[in-house]
Amino acid sequence: TAALIQARELRVEYPGRAGGRVRALRDVDLDILQGETLGLVGESGCGKSTLGRALLRVIEPASGRIEFGGTDLTRLRGRQLRRTRAELQMVFQDPFGSLNPRRRIADIVAEPLLRARGATRAEAAKTVAELLDLVGLGAEAGGRRPHEFSGGQRQRIGIARALASSPQFVVADEAVSALDVSIQAQVLNLLSDLVRDRGLTMLFISHDLGVVRHIADRIAVMYLGQIIEIASRDAFFAAPAHPYSRALLSSVPVLRPGEKREQEVLEGELPDPANPPEGCLFRTRCPIATEECRTTAPELREITPGRSVRCHLPLVTSE
Ligand code: SF4
Ligand code: MG
Repeated sequence: TAALIQARELRVEYPGRAGGRVRALRDVDLDILQGETLGLVGESGCGKSTLGRALLRVIEPASGRIEFGGTDLTRLRGRQLRRTRAELQMVFQDPFGSLNPRRRIADIVAEPLLRARGATRAEAAKTVAELLDLVGLGAEAGGRRPHEFSGGQRQRIGIARALASSPQFVVADEAVSALDVSIQAQVLNLLSDLVRDRGLTMLFISHDLGVVRHIADRIAVMYLGQIIEIASRDAFFAAPAHPYSRALLSSVPVLRPGEKREQEVLEGELPDPANPPEGCLFRTRCPIATEECRTTAPELREITPGRSVRCHLPLVTSE
């Protein structure tokens, strides 16, 4: 399968508190394949959201390229950029925060369609009714306002709006994290149906491995602004190859229905991103670190077909 999105040496920096620059993304190389759902996981602050936003050009990268269907997104400006943005959409964690409480649902959903696609009012109204049906709310929801809906329903509105401009690529950032577990499953099923039926490609960002396991075809793990492992879902959950992936997986809590998911914290502190360790960035928390890990930063390399790991001593060597 061809890649729809190819990020190369993508770097994002922000000013540090004590002067200098903090790297939020450290030269990330990533292919997102046409039609796949790629799950992006890691602790909060590791750069997942930054990567998602940089791929949509909501954040301006300091350097690097993002190829999307043969164009370098980082070079687009003005009208070209606006037009291309219609192809790239985001579903947010808290749709209530991003849904204007005074506007009708129909107007909220229609907005990207009118703005980016230059649709007429009549065309937009027809599409909005179809979308509200598609996400399971029914066309009559269009006349109501955001506060009349539950969290799960608002997330469906956010999804309808993201789909309004017929995007090819969607970034869902913690899209079900604010929802009860029972509602999460419904919204996940909706998203995976939409990916399948509309031929979407999705980057699904979550700190919750249980959720990602439901929806992703492949898994990418981030740590301190780097991708440290990428593998098919089945290979990953059968046996993660990076020591950090293994630690993340073993910290997934067992949940009872109705419980909110809590982020499990790994042992040891996440290093200060302004002052990262030399050598392997994970070595300060790695149970199997050696002298080589202190002196030499590992590259992300393919260790078995379809699986790449950034570690001198990967825990999986054959499949
Ligand atoms: Fe651990 Fe070394 Fe692998 Fe880094 S390179 S994850 S420190 S074993
Ligand atoms: Mg985030």
